[in-house]
Amino acid sequence: MLGFRRTPVNHPDPAAPRRLATPRSVVVVGGGIAGVAAALVLAERGAAVTLLESNAELGGRVSAWTDSLADGQRFEMERGFHAFFRQYYNLRALMRRIDPSLARLTPVTDYPLLGPDGAVESFAGLPKLPIVNLISLIRRSSSMSLRDALRVDNTLGQAMMAYDPVATYAKYDQQSAHEFLNRLGFPPRARQMLFDVFSHSFFNPEAEFSAAELMMMFHFYFIGNPEGIVFDVLDGPFSTRLWQPMQRHLEQLGVQIELGVAATRITRDREHMQVHTNAATLAADAVVLAPHLPGLQRIVADSPGLGDSRWRAAIAGQSVTNAFAVWRLWLDRPCAPARAAFVGTTGLGLLDNISLFHLFEDESRAWAARTGGSVVELHAYALPPGLDDEAIKADLLATLHHLYPETRAARIVEQRFLIRQDCPAFRPGEAALRPRVSTPEPGLLLAGDCVHTDFPTALMERAAATGMLAANVLLRRWGAAEEPLWSVVPRGLLARVVHRKSARSA
Ligand SMILES: Cc1cc2nc3c(=O)[nH]c(=O)nc-3n(C[C@H](O)[C@H](O)[C@H](O)COP(=O)(O)OP(=O)(O)OC[C@H]3O[C@@H](n4cnc5c(N)ncnc54)[C@H](O)[C@@H]3O)c2cc1C
Repeated sequence: MLGFRRTPVNHPDPAAPRRLATPRSVVVVGGGIAGVAAALVLAERGAAVTLLESNAELGGRVSAWTDSLADGQRFEMERGFHAFFRQYYNLRALMRRIDPSLARLTPVTDYPLLGPDGAVESFAGLPKLPIVNLISLIRRSSSMSLRDALRVDNTLGQAMMAYDPVATYAKYDQQSAHEFLNRLGFPPRARQMLFDVFSHSFFNPEAEFSAAELMMMFHFYFIGNPEGIVFDVLDGPFSTRLWQPMQRHLEQLGVQIELGVAATRITRDREHMQVHTNAATLAADAVVLAPHLPGLQRIVADSPGLGDSRWRAAIAGQSVTNAFAVWRLWLDRPCAPARAAFVGTTGLGLLDNISLFHLFEDESRAWAARTGGSVVELHAYALPPGLDDEAIKADLLATLHHLYPETRAARIVEQRFLIRQDCPAFRPGEAALRPRVSTPEPGLLLAGDCVHTDFPTALMERAAATGMLAANVLLRRWGAAEEPLWSVVPRGLLARVVHRKSARSA
């Protein structure tokens, strides 16, 4: 079934040389997945790469750093649980550089979703074949019958199966996911269990999340995804499993990694781009800017000569979405044996998911084995503004106690609580203004999960893909072989039919 296989995004010229014929230098700003992907691909082709990261470690939102528990035991604290989906082809290609068989990824076989009044949906064991997976989910769903499904607005239901990277945005980007789902007419319970979780999983409140973006996500994670919706997790901390080996690998390739160094602004003369930091000015043939959105906005605002006014205004006009909270708890007793390693939640206060780290992560497993306790992480995304930390914690703990009653009597032995606000918003009407990899400045490329791609992708995978795309723009220009990129099938099964029909009726 060709249409359901992974699809090449580009077709690198097999005759193009693997190494650059002329020495080239690139400064990459930002050591998250996007910056690392760009740095790695460019260094593999022989470019002289300097990678600047303002934090003390690589990884950005997937980073980890050493911390110690009250008893002196050291552990790696992270920015929060991450799911590595199987259709993250480009991220996986990046990770294969340090772990060729991806042995450090371990499957999470079920991914239940818990709702109010004991409602449960499971994504385990669904057929992989797109559309058939949706029909199976509806057939076995406790929140919706096939008859309910047939009552759903037919035209809008078809639009969900007809994702098209141009037509979907032209038609639905002005609406919010909330409006779209209301009009779709799903029964309230089915809507809550099958859809409400979507925008939150991308950190955005549903009322402020573009309906087109929702459809892209639905296509990328579900309806167009030939790998199934189950995912893998790293079996140890991000630092030891990912970033330390990656840093060594990059250094072996000759990448100059500068940690704790922030780029402040960028200028250029006739020959070179110049990246200014607090300590020095670095000159290079090209710059890949891969910070998070707030970092990108600061650098562009402080570099008045960069790009053109339209581009600068578009960057300034982007915004981060609401804050999120990550709360890791070390409890003095175990969770019930049947608990899943990860559950999503919906309609249950602020809580979006619960992960039991002692079930999949080696450090937490060892702690639980030693103490008889458990390591539980609670996430809350798209937080309403104005809540203080204690109110957030009280809400999260109440839901944990409700869902996992065995934790009610548990003593919190240790805890770490993070609130951050650095994930991009995908507001209605903003798709056309979203930053692109190429910029009006020929020596300047952008990468990151806030950067647009023409093929469906999101989050960590978008970060990896845009980093590789940025590298490819330079490699093409300099006559070296591009990195191959992959995608799920770029359009929905019904895209041709639905969009031809709507073009005729327009
Ligand atoms: C709680 C949480 C859970 C998540 N779960 C998932 C998940 O399950 N699956 C998934 O796919 N994605 C998930 N994500 C999203 C994922 O983490 C991001 O999409 C991805 O890490 C973004 O990578 P990036 O390289 O674009 O940006 P970042 O990781 O933000 O990297 C940007 C880097 O640039 C650095 N920087 C900024 N300014 C400067 C400067 N001026 N100079 C130098 N360096 C600078 C920053 O310090 C940072 O390290 C989650 C995110 C969060 C917060």
